[in-house]
Order: sequence, then structure tokens, then C-alpha cells
Amino acid sequence: TVNKETLGFQAEVKQLLQLMIHSLYSNKEIFLRELISNASDASDKLRFEGIEHPDWYGDDPELKIKVSFDKAARTVTIADNGIGMSREEVISNLGTIARSGTKEFFSKLSGDQQKDAALIGQFGVGFYSAFIVADRITVETRRAGLPAQDGIRWESDGSGEFTVENVDLAQRGTAITMHLREGEDDFLSTQKLKSIIRKYSDHISLPIQMNKESWDDDKKEQVIQDEMESINQSSALWARSKSEITEEQYTEFYKHLSHDYEDPLCYSLNRVEGRSEFTQLLYVPTRAPFDLWDRNKRGGIKLYVKRVFIMEDAEQLLPMYLRFVTGVIDSVDLPLNVSREILQESRDVKVIRESSTKRVLSMLEDLANNDDELKKEKYRTFWTQFGQVLKEGIGEDQPNKERISKLLRFASTHTDSADQAVSLAEYVARMKEGQDKIYYVTGDSFNAAKNSPHLEIFRKKGVEVLLLTDRVDEWMLSFFTEFDARQMTSVAKGGLDLGSLSDEKEKQEHEETEKGFKDLLDRMKVVLEDKVKDVRVTFRLTDSPACLVSDEDELSGNLLRMLKAAGQ
Ligand code: ADP
Ligand code: MG
Repeated sequence: TVNKETLGFQAEVKQLLQLMIHSLYSNKEIFLRELISNASDASDKLRFEGIEHPDWYGDDPELKIKVSFDKAARTVTIADNGIGMSREEVISNLGTIARSGTKEFFSKLSGDQQKDAALIGQFGVGFYSAFIVADRITVETRRAGLPAQDGIRWESDGSGEFTVENVDLAQRGTAITMHLREGEDDFLSTQKLKSIIRKYSDHISLPIQMNKESWDDDKKEQVIQDEMESINQSSALWARSKSEITEEQYTEFYKHLSHDYEDPLCYSLNRVEGRSEFTQLLYVPTRAPFDLWDRNKRGGIKLYVKRVFIMEDAEQLLPMYLRFVTGVIDSVDLPLNVSREILQESRDVKVIRESSTKRVLSMLEDLANNDDELKKEKYRTFWTQFGQVLKEGIGEDQPNKERISKLLRFASTHTDSADQAVSLAEYVARMKEGQDKIYYVTGDSFNAAKNSPHLEIFRKKGVEVLLLTDRVDEWMLSFFTEFDARQMTSVAKGGLDLGSLSDEKEKQEHEETEKGFKDLLDRMKVVLEDKVKDVRVTFRLTDSPACLVSDEDELSGNLLRMLKAAGQ
């Protein structure tokens, strides 16, 4: 290969850089958090790969992060002795956005800076945020295990191209040097950098070090010493005692884990002892990530074994329907060389999964069943963002079905609003004298459901009907036949037995009407011969002359439409 190459950024990177500089300028100090977060990830990776390659540590076994600045050169440098990057890794990690769903993400951008700033938070900010304050960035990096001459220097002014060349580097790991833009000299100060690090990065479990500074009596000013000092607590956040962890530290740790820009909705830290011993720190995000529906989405739960990072997105630790949860599980029992295959079989993992599932459900119950207005509001937010995913749990998690069903929220004819706010318990509490079933109607859209002719008789009798219009509803209902001993009943299916909701007099009238129309019905059955199974007199309509219903045990019309649309 040629030693020095000039390469172009992927089109999305260019777009991201522009957007970042404009929309995050008011919060520009977050670049430091992002770079420290990456340095910490790189050390986690070395710890993990180092289990099999102990020689990679060489004479430099203490993993740490160094932050320094050079007033004369107007640069700030963040250096780590983590895993480092090879030439190929530098090109792909710093020249492209590898995340799935990137294209769709960019297609959502509106050009409105405020809206886009919120979107960018969902996407994650990352390395490129350094260009908010720097007009040139130099990265020097060497992959652990590679020789000194395989060091790489990457450089870019962020305007569309970058260069990569081989250089000799004595140390493994990565040093990122930012050449500050005009007017950003604020960052050339120990005090300033320290305070940003304490604010955003105190949860980082490695020491973050800076040169000491002390007063020089001759020069009459603060002078930077060679000696280093640690400026964070440098212990794993989840291993600290609860009383020592501040709200802010929980929040910043969440942002580090999730690459989310917003605060979490709620979190829960627990140490579990007994047959299995582990710590779980679990967060529910405030907003669904742009790739929630993408099966290759990253994030989820990070697995540690005795503080050693083992793997990202350990999907065995929580069921699929809780895939929006982010957090850390640190196990005492699992072996360090645990693989995804072993996780699938492990007893310990089963225990962790069950316990974590219960934790998440209790967190949600705490929001859902609380009188506190703030918590209620949080549950509404949760439901709008993740309700459709939680519904998958009805089919997926038999043992917790009842708990999940109490967390469900629906639109209903009680308010006729598209807001999904009615719980099944509220529905049951409002049931009419003599009503023994929970009625629902499904539809493609809220308006279709709300205006369904099947509702006419229910509206007339003042019986509430749930309006189900999410894609997942039909599927969910196939697993959800009763709540609180009341049968879930579609108003669009079968003969519609209103049970004791209709009185004796009505029943008699119905029978007589049916007799009166017998000839007409017989004629219609002949005319419609192979188009319908049966023609009946209906008492479920008050305004419309006729409607189609499916048989009790058949797929509903709505589900049939969905299957057809899916090409089945
Ligand atoms: P993210 O951290 O969300 O993956 P970033 O934009 O922050 O995205 O970083 C992009 C990628 O660059 C990282 O995933 C990692 O592979 C690589 N990288 C960044 N900083 C470092 C570092 N200090 N050491 C090793 N690799 C790094
Ligand atoms: Mg990052």
C-alpha cells in the first residue's frame, strides 16, 4: 500500500459534521465526554481481548486516559492505552458511519436546526463532535499486538477528506489531538477541562489523569508539572454504594452506555445475592432510538464478569420485548471466556434474565401506578414511545403476561381520543351492570376503528369498546383471551351475544324479527351464494343497513387485510 492516502468521507459523514457543528454548538463541551467515552470503550475492548493475549499489555499494564493541552500550539489531546486501531479500522471507523439505519436517519432530517438537533441526539453524537471545537483533528493510533511501525496517523479538517499514513508509534492505544478553532481558547485550561470531566465523565471506571498544576512563586502564575493526578473516582459506577451515586452520575453513565443524548426516563440499580450473584443497572430511555424496529440495532445490555467487559448487546439477558432497555449486568458466576453460545445454555443467565425482566416491569409499574403527576407523565411518555414493543411481551413472556397486561394502555370509546390512555383495570371498573366481557374493535387506523359500524349498538347501550389500531394488536390478541376473568371479545366477530346486556323483551323482539325476515334471508343466501358463508339479521347496527362480520374462530377482516398487504 501507498503510505499516505487521501480518502473521502462517506456522504453521510459530511452531512453529520455540518449538522453537528450547527446544532450542538451551544453544548459544545460534550466533545470531551464523547472522546473519553470512546477511550473507555477502547480499554474495555483491550481488557476483553487481553484475556487471550496477555502479551498485548507489554510493559504498560495500567489502563488509563490522559487529558492534556498545549497552550502555544492551541491543542487539546485525549490519549488512551486501550485497544487502538489498525489502518483498516481507522479508515472504516473514522471515515464512515457503520450504524445500521443511517440512511433512513438522514432522510428524516428536516433542515430545521432545532428539530434536527433532537434527532441527532437519538442517533448518537460520537467522535465527530470534536469538530464542533476543532478545525483539524489528528489521530495517532496503534492496535494492541501490532509492532511500532504499524502506527497510523489520521488527519482531517472535517470538510470532506481525510489522510491516513503509517508512522512509528512507541505505545499502543489512541491519542486524539484537536487543533482548536478560533475563539475556543477557553478549553486551554486545567480548571475548565477538569470541571467538564467531573461533570460528564466521573462514572468512567478508569483513571482519567491530567498534569498537576501548581503556583510558581517566581513566575507568579500557575505552572503545569510533569506529575499526573487522577481527577475522577475511577471505580465502576454500578459497584459503588447507592448512597454515593448522584442522579447526575447515573444520567451521564446512561449517556455513555446508550450513545443517547437525552436523559433516561428511569433507572434501577440492584445487587442480587444468593445462588447467583450479580449486579444489574437498568435504564429505560425517554425516547425510542431511530432504529428501534431494526433487528440489528445495537445497544441493549452490556455484560461484565467481575468488572471485565465481556460483550455488548448481550441479547440473552433480557427478552426481545424489552429491547429498549439499556444497562449493565456484572456477573460473579459466569466464566470470563463466556461466549454467546454458552450464554444461551447457562443456568446463571436464566436467573439473571428472569430477575432483570422483573426489575424492568417493577420500574414500569412504579411509573404506571403512581399518583405522582411527574411519574404519570413519564408513563405516558413511555407508552407512546415503547408501548407497541411492550405488547409483544403478551405473546412472548407467558409467566409475566398478567403483569404486562396491567401495563397496557388503549384508546377507547370512553374518550374517543386517539390517545392510548385507558388501562384494562379502568375499563373493568366502568363495565355496565350485566356486562361480563371486555369488548374491542380492531382497525387499520384510529378513525376506521372509531367509526366502525360494529360499534353502533355499543354506543347506543353506552358500553365501552377498546379501539385497537397498532400493527401488533391482532397478533397480541391471539395470545390474550382474557383479563381478570373477563373474556376479550371482538365486536366484529360471530353472533355477538350481548349476554345479560340485552333484556328478555329485546330477545323476544329479535326472535320475531328474525322469523319475519326468513324469506328475504333465504333469497339473499342464494344470490350471494359463494361470496358469503351466512346471511343473518343483525341487532348490532343502529344506523348502517348492513355490515360484514367474521366467524368466531376465523381470522378477522383486519388481520386478513394485513396478511394480504404482507404478501401472504
Ligand atoms: P461509537 O462510539 O458510537 O461507536 P464514535 O463516533 O464515538 O461512535 O466512534 C466511532 C468508532 O471509532 C468507535 O466505534 C471505535 O471503533 C472507533 N474509536 C473511536 N475512538 C477510539 C479510541 N480511542 N480507541 C479505539 N477505537 C476508537
Ligand atoms: Mg463513541
